[in-house]
Amino acid sequence: MSSESSEDLFRYLEQTRELFGDELYHRPPESFVSDSGDQSFESGQYTSANLDKYREEIQSCQKCLLGETRQKFVFGVGDPHANLMLIGEAPGAEEDKLGEPFVGRAGKLLDKILAAIGRSREKDVFICNVLKCRPPKNRDPLPSEVELCESYLIHQIHLIKPKLIVALGRVAGKTLLKVEEPLKAMRGKLHDYHGTPLIVTYHPAALLRNSGFKPPTWEDFKWIRSILEGEQ
Ligand code: SF4
Repeated sequence: MSSESSEDLFRYLEQTRELFGDELYHRPPESFVSDSGDQSFESGQYTSANLDKYREEIQSCQKCLLGETRQKFVFGVGDPHANLMLIGEAPGAEEDKLGEPFVGRAGKLLDKILAAIGRSREKDVFICNVLKCRPPKNRDPLPSEVELCESYLIHQIHLIKPKLIVALGRVAGKTLLKVEEPLKAMRGKLHDYHGTPLIVTYHPAALLRNSGFKPPTWEDFKWIRSILEGEQ
């Protein structure tokens, strides 16, 4: 087996163990170890070691009903080797139209916050959502949708290998952490998401609604910067 195939197999075993426990861990599908690269998202088998190729593999997904109502699949944007990964809950109307996460006023504010810590969408940051398709009327993701879609996010994290994940907003935080807590209870703590440290902070749209959230958000991003720069 080539070293690339070995790496893919190792990544697959790690991923399936995290997702399904030891039962599947001992039974990797034969097709996974082939070099065809022709894996189907329907079966939950992912081999791509390249983010662009992975997007091609999953962008036609119809696993949940949101696949029928979306305009555009929103995979995520940014540096494929980013140390910082920002995750929202799901695309909104503008994101659905453009196929890019965090656009519009909230996105512009996020860009300013990133600039303040010396980063940008292109530089050391990857931005995406838990769900890749827009829920109607911007409702919260359903648990059944998260269950079907979350493995895509986990594979993105395996490919990008960020040093830190930041969940933007209460819904993204509680969805990833599988808790029912207010944002205040999740903020200010270093959580763990499948082996990667995770922080929860305010969604930029919340800052537009209430500027009182800006000072605590800035405190969070100073903490984020210090973690990324190895000061903690
Ligand atoms: S939300 Fe996720 S699981 Fe549902 S269709 Fe879109 S990509 Fe597939």
